[in-house]
Amino acid sequence: MVNAETPTPLGIQPGLRASHMRAVPQVQTVLGPAPASTLGPTLCHEHVAIRSPGVAEAWPAMGPSKSAILQRCVRLLSRAQRAGIGCILDHTTFDLGRDPLLLRVAAERSGVSIVAATGIWTTRPRFFGHKTDEQLAELFIRDAVTGFGGTNIRPGLIKVGVTSEPLDAFDRLLLRAAAITHDVTGLPVTLHTDASNRSGFEAVELLSAHGVDPARVGVGHSGDTTDVAYLLELLSHGVFLGLDRFGSATGPDDNARMQVVMELCEAGFAERLLLAHDTNCWNDRDTDQWRTQNRPNWHFEYIPNTILPSLELRGVGTETIRQLMETNPQTWLAGTSPVPRAKPETPDPNS
Ligand SMILES: [Zn+2]
Repeated sequence: MVNAETPTPLGIQPGLRASHMRAVPQVQTVLGPAPASTLGPTLCHEHVAIRSPGVAEAWPAMGPSKSAILQRCVRLLSRAQRAGIGCILDHTTFDLGRDPLLLRVAAERSGVSIVAATGIWTTRPRFFGHKTDEQLAELFIRDAVTGFGGTNIRPGLIKVGVTSEPLDAFDRLLLRAAAITHDVTGLPVTLHTDASNRSGFEAVELLSAHGVDPARVGVGHSGDTTDVAYLLELLSHGVFLGLDRFGSATGPDDNARMQVVMELCEAGFAERLLLAHDTNCWNDRDTDQWRTQNRPNWHFEYIPNTILPSLELRGVGTETIRQLMETNPQTWLAGTSPVPRAKPETPDPNS
């Protein structure tokens, strides 16, 4: 008799991914693996639909229906596609209400590739309370190997949210679980950090100490600070930085965010920046009225239609724009990134 409480062992061994490496760099999208080079311009930290877990189940009559949410997602993703966006990296983990089937249908109908995330945002589920790093990693690895929740839809990212500085025991547990998951699956790690307390440093160091190549780590929400010295120090570890809240009307304004992009490019790190809005098609927290009043620019078209032209007007070249929007997401996701070198200091002719 099958014991329903005992999950089928996965039989996963660290290093398994080495035998599955392909000649053409691949990215796992919600429609299956795709050559990285086919993704097109990519928004590196967004959400399709964010829902508070358990609410729809507790009060199903409150709506909106799943099909209404899907329709809205398809409409907004189609607009992104018409603005030139080929792919979005959906950072909606299970604790933000990830719905893999919705992601799949939204990708099919809109024509925008979607890369989904395993891992966890900043909530601390009771279920995780007494688990070890290996037990948590098994959950994430299960997503990557067999698919999310009984589907065959798999993640292309491992997300971990850390906000305390110094990291607390739970943050460290999650980071170790992410490192194990990365080792087995080869997926990149994307961090939710708090740039104001510089929580990225310790997280990157812990991941590195557990064998994660910094070139596969994206330090999210780094654009929430204008402390370029902090960002350059992070970059010196070899990581990617998420400058990922354009149009959000939180933290630095968009001019200040663009200035950071330009300074980091000027310092030789254009190969390490990942742009996005951290917006969504649907968030059960927000009303349309609230969004219109408070965050009018917080949508997928803002970067392609407003930020990129502004950067070009300020002297950022077409090739650099392509680097930011296409090459960087692809190399981070597929693990084909060259090591960037900081621009050498111009020698002082008088010395
Ligand atoms: Zn987010």
